[in-house]
Amino acid sequence: MQKQQTIIEESLKALMKDESFLPDLQSQTREQAFKSLVALLSTPNHIHKSFLRITLENGRIVRIPSFRVQHSDTVGPYKGGIRFHESVNEEEVANLAKLMTLKNALHELPFGGGKGGVGINPKEFTVKELNLICKKYVQYFNDILGPDKDIPAPDVGTGEREMDWMMGEYKSTHPGQAYRNSFTGKSILNGGSLGRREATGKGVYFTFRYMMHNFVQENKKWLRDTENPFAHTALDHADKKLKMAVQGFGNLGSVAALEASQCNYLQNKIVAVSDHNVMLYNDDGLDIQGLVKYVEGHDGDLPTENGQLEEHDIKAEIKGRDDLLELDVDVLLLAALEDQIHEDNMENIKARLIIEGANGPITEKADKYLADKGVLIVPDILANAGGVIVSFYEWVQGREAQFMTEDEVYQRLFDKMKGTMDTILPQFFGDPFPLRQNSYIHSVKKLSTIMYRQGKLY
Ligand code: NAD
Repeated sequence: MQKQQTIIEESLKALMKDESFLPDLQSQTREQAFKSLVALLSTPNHIHKSFLRITLENGRIVRIPSFRVQHSDTVGPYKGGIRFHESVNEEEVANLAKLMTLKNALHELPFGGGKGGVGINPKEFTVKELNLICKKYVQYFNDILGPDKDIPAPDVGTGEREMDWMMGEYKSTHPGQAYRNSFTGKSILNGGSLGRREATGKGVYFTFRYMMHNFVQENKKWLRDTENPFAHTALDHADKKLKMAVQGFGNLGSVAALEASQCNYLQNKIVAVSDHNVMLYNDDGLDIQGLVKYVEGHDGDLPTENGQLEEHDIKAEIKGRDDLLELDVDVLLLAALEDQIHEDNMENIKARLIIEGANGPITEKADKYLADKGVLIVPDILANAGGVIVSFYEWVQGREAQFMTEDEVYQRLFDKMKGTMDTILPQFFGDPFPLRQNSYIHSVKKLSTIMYRQGKLY
């Protein structure tokens, strides 16, 4: 996640050379503004840390590290998920909070960036203990959360159940105050939005489909004439049946895989999917709908034994989990965790198109290596904003107490993502920067201009 910092600085340097960027700022004032912007964008406004004191059902008392990082509220209240995972630490949460600031600005959402984390493996706790952890989280961070201050949502290890519990605790601790918009990603009964659970996975696939089908097909001639290496990678795959592998078959990966397998615009064949245990492979294409049904009935896990495959009539071979990344496929869809493609495996990656569903799944070094080889990476900041976009719709619907149908939610989601893609893609294919850098330049430009107008750069 160090790459965020490098890209922010590189984006600012590129912008500072562009005379149309903040033209009122000249010479020394411009230098000063640059320094202020680097400082403002690199560091969070606040880091809140607590050790939640929990009495387990067996009577043992534990203290669990937990965080809420508020990176920037330049554009609106802090917004970002709460992750339950044993590897959660302050630096990781701070980096994810920064990414939220940039992502929300890129997609023109009226939110700043924040992120939360609790250092546990939720599978090791009982339901009653998890309920207590959620309540304590809200109690410990009570003063800093709220519908117009900081609005959390689910992330890895949390879902609508946890958001319902947290909202319930917020309601109890703020009697008589607005509470419905204090959390998003809630269940429908508690004011959640239809389509929120599927939004990120659908949005991830939409960005890829929109780029490859709509943009590339409509601009073939122009793209062929450019010297942009990424344009040629896209063109090489424009009319092919695409062999695809999906790392991570959770909320995001399973929805994105289903969208890809049912797509009427591109011809996709998903030959491999993996989760934290295994990879399943079938060169003729996996039955994604069947696998979605299987994981729904098995606590989210893919089958790990041949007997389970046979029992559920799933045609696949069981292979080593991490081998998925190095398969000879056209498209890799990364939907698990951070830092999955790194210095040790980057040279073995064969896919020429990579979609980042997860946040930060490629390290800085690997990102640069792959970009230099012309691999077209659709970055997290662009691809996986569907969740926060529909969270915004949930927040608005909660305020108005008027709810949209599922079709309306998806239509507005795709319209919003299309708007961002229409801004970024012509710029991207027209210059030599990778898509990540282009997206950052756009987002940093927007944030910088707002900060300047708010008088923060003096
Ligand atoms: P999830 O917990 O539902 O699913 C994660 C999946 O990854 C599971 O199938 C898990 O078994 C698998 N996995 C874990 N380690 C793995 C490994 N080493 N190899 C292969 N698979 C592995 O989480 P999710 O909500 O689907 O989120 C996945 C990623 O997407 C995270 O990085 C998250 O931050 C990011 N993200 C999610 C959302 C959202 O709305 N769900 C929004 C933005 C970003």
